[in-house]
Amino acid sequence: MSGVTLTVDGPAWRTHLRHLADTTPGLVPVAKGNGYGFGLDTLAREAQRLGVDTIAVGIPGEVALVRDHFDGDIVILNPWSADDPVAVEVAADPRVISTVSRVDDLARLAGAEGRPRVLVEVLTSMRRHGLAPTDLAKVNELGDAVSFEGWVIHLPHVADGRTAEAEQLAAACNAVRSAPLWFSHLAGDDAARIATGLGTTHRLRIGTNLWLGAPATRSATTTVLDVHPVRRGERVGYWRRRVPADGWLVIVAGGTANGIGMEAPTSARSARSRVISVATGSLAALGRALSPFTIDGKKRWFAEPPHMQSSMVLLPGSATPPAVGDQLPVEVRLTTAQVDQLVITEAAE
Ligand SMILES: *Cc1c(COP(=O)(O)O)cnc(C)c1O
Repeated sequence: MSGVTLTVDGPAWRTHLRHLADTTPGLVPVAKGNGYGFGLDTLAREAQRLGVDTIAVGIPGEVALVRDHFDGDIVILNPWSADDPVAVEVAADPRVISTVSRVDDLARLAGAEGRPRVLVEVLTSMRRHGLAPTDLAKVNELGDAVSFEGWVIHLPHVADGRTAEAEQLAAACNAVRSAPLWFSHLAGDDAARIATGLGTTHRLRIGTNLWLGAPATRSATTTVLDVHPVRRGERVGYWRRRVPADGWLVIVAGGTANGIGMEAPTSARSARSRVISVATGSLAALGRALSPFTIDGKKRWFAEPPHMQSSMVLLPGSATPPAVGDQLPVEVRLTTAQVDQLVITEAAE
């Protein structure tokens, strides 16, 4: 086995998934993007195993990637657009539920063949997508011409005022048309209380806390491809940068193609930690970055930014070098990772 491998303790992961599903009435697992590191097909199969009736994908093109692995309904989270031919095509699929965020789009779908199944999204304080609360009444005239499946309320992560906002928008939606409330990023008990209070039901779309909620059930490793002794001042890599100290240059599998060495956009908080690293004169101040690879017990520094499928890592002479073919721990951010192998272990017989 070579490359970046994600190993999942199957029974332990599935115990967590089962527990979350059992304690989250209305759960709609979200399988989108890179499949939270596991891949969309894997997530669709796990959702099937959980026995849920619906899953959510992000974009219309993802319907085809989950459809053959999951029997139930498929909700598309990103709003429907008449300009997207795939969105138009899949809206006609009786297993697909499209999300509509503009009155004009609802009118278009209302005129389409076969009464497409739709959710209507209302604009929240996130201000991402949705009808303005003042336009909700317009839904009523068009709602009968589609199969109206419910209202979408997608809330910000900031908890302050979130429940009150959910409550207020849910009441406004339900006053126009009583239908299930499809929440994102709201606590399950709040969602249930709001829906029950309005005499309707709720659904909760969850990705991260479901798939990535039990970090101890998985680990990522990668393969040592080569090890070279190096001397301080020698030049190495694409950029022929000088090595800061005697030691080893370790070439490991995994690079930008695997989502390694690509930081998510930084927040002010991490900008502050960058300032600290400059002040303390660490390798970061010299333009180096700490790699996610652990060699001889510690995370080590990149010799240069990684490219595609391998990385060059500096190991000081005081450390014990690995052997070619060894597996090393690597920290991967699973929402950006593309692993080379996924291994889900089964219970021992
Ligand atoms: C991605 C997404 C989710 C799932 O988000 P997580 O934070 O991964 O649980 C839920 N709702 C909508 C609308 C989304 O786009």
